[in-house]
Amino acid sequence: MGLQGLRLYNTLTQKKEEFKPINPPRVGMYACGPTVYNYAHIGNLRTYIFNDILRRTLLKNGYKLTHVMNITDVGHLTSDADTGEDKMLVSARKEKKSVWDIADFYTKAFFRDTALLNIQKPDIVCKATEHINDMIEMNKKIERNGYAYFKGGNLYFDTGKLKDYGKLARLKLENLREGARTDKDPNKKNPTDFVLWFTKSKFQDQEMKWPSPWGVGYPGWHIECSAMSSKYLGEQFDIHTGGIDHIPVHHTNEIAQAEAAFQKKPWVRYWIHAEFLVMDKGKMAKSSGEFITLQTLIDKGFNTLAYRYLCLGTHYRKQLMFSWEAMRTAASAYKALKNRIMELKDENTTFDKSNKKEYYKTEFMNRVNDNLNMPRALALLNNMLRDDSLGSKEKIELINDFDEILGLDLLKEEKIEVSEDVKELVERREQARKKKDFKLADKLREEIKAKGFILEDTSAGPKLKKL
Ligand code: AMP
Ligand code: ZN
Repeated sequence: MGLQGLRLYNTLTQKKEEFKPINPPRVGMYACGPTVYNYAHIGNLRTYIFNDILRRTLLKNGYKLTHVMNITDVGHLTSDADTGEDKMLVSARKEKKSVWDIADFYTKAFFRDTALLNIQKPDIVCKATEHINDMIEMNKKIERNGYAYFKGGNLYFDTGKLKDYGKLARLKLENLREGARTDKDPNKKNPTDFVLWFTKSKFQDQEMKWPSPWGVGYPGWHIECSAMSSKYLGEQFDIHTGGIDHIPVHHTNEIAQAEAAFQKKPWVRYWIHAEFLVMDKGKMAKSSGEFITLQTLIDKGFNTLAYRYLCLGTHYRKQLMFSWEAMRTAASAYKALKNRIMELKDENTTFDKSNKKEYYKTEFMNRVNDNLNMPRALALLNNMLRDDSLGSKEKIELINDFDEILGLDLLKEEKIEVSEDVKELVERREQARKKKDFKLADKLREEIKAKGFILEDTSAGPKLKKL
């Protein structure tokens, strides 16, 4: 079978579809970014690993990608709807810092984490607070087109004006009881209406506020994504991503805003959503304050890429059940994989008995292109490593190729820190070996092992590997 094109599961149509961009080879992709009021937890990071795989897959398929991601530094309330306080504000109060310092600190922390996971930086990273004008302009369009009303100091989106409101989540509007998913805001005409602009009538102590035609205030959360994505990608674009929690409220409202403002449908062609990472106790939530960060994994001695490896082992549309046991298993599988690959480097053979290299190259992409089936792609990597019809050089070439998508640094040598006493043991063993005192050499090798290293004799001399 030849190389097949990319197929993606589209939440909008609830089908796996062939990916056809609006203006090939150009592709526009918008990913909902982090709300920077706390560290990202490993659940959030799972979603960005999924996004990174999608990014790398689009690039590998030859598309000219513009990948945009926002940083939410204002307006995301403690519920995804209009109740509660701004998450940034709550955090600033707790940490006794300004909201701007909070945003700056956690944005930096986010990019440090993503770099440690080999997540490539999007082409455009845009902060909500730097696009307030774009949001105001978009709200004005929505208002001009008759989809907004001003009441009690806030500008609301009138969801009653859109016949297909809720199509992404297949919301049955008639079944939506007041209070089921929204606050009982007496100003709202419909229970699903949402705020486009809050004025000072809401939180008096809101530190971030701006002038607007509706009064001094700040934007609703959803408008930032509609405004910024359209600014950088146009009034209609190809892909929008996020975690599944965004389907019923945030993305539903983003669609409503954009289709009301631009009067074009569909606003986005492909909506791709990643399932959640869950723990025994249920979902991991940033707002609960009890969550595992990447630093927690590092502190426990895990390689950050072992976490990436763990994520790739579960399809992005399936829940990932996180446990320390699963993490340990992934870490040892990742280590074993890298060790096997390091051995290949010493083998130095070159042959390809039945034109297998091309087969593996194509099959790998076919598995990735099949809605990013990374578990099957990893299985193929393992099959290929065991395949005797390929020489080590051919295998290394393939690993290099696969790693453009996997991003697991499979060919990168681990830098191992060796203490002076281990170095001395290696030296003494080398002397013993030269003197053909194999009994002593073996004893010293055991001592080295007890200190956490495996010593191997290669044509280039003794080599240490971490146990
Ligand atoms: P936030 O910073 O809360 O806006 O979330 C950032 C991203 O992480 C969003 O795309 C969420 O959908 C996603 N997300 C939140 N919780 C989880 C979780 N437990 N597992 C996977 N993704 C999550
Ligand atoms: Zn968003």
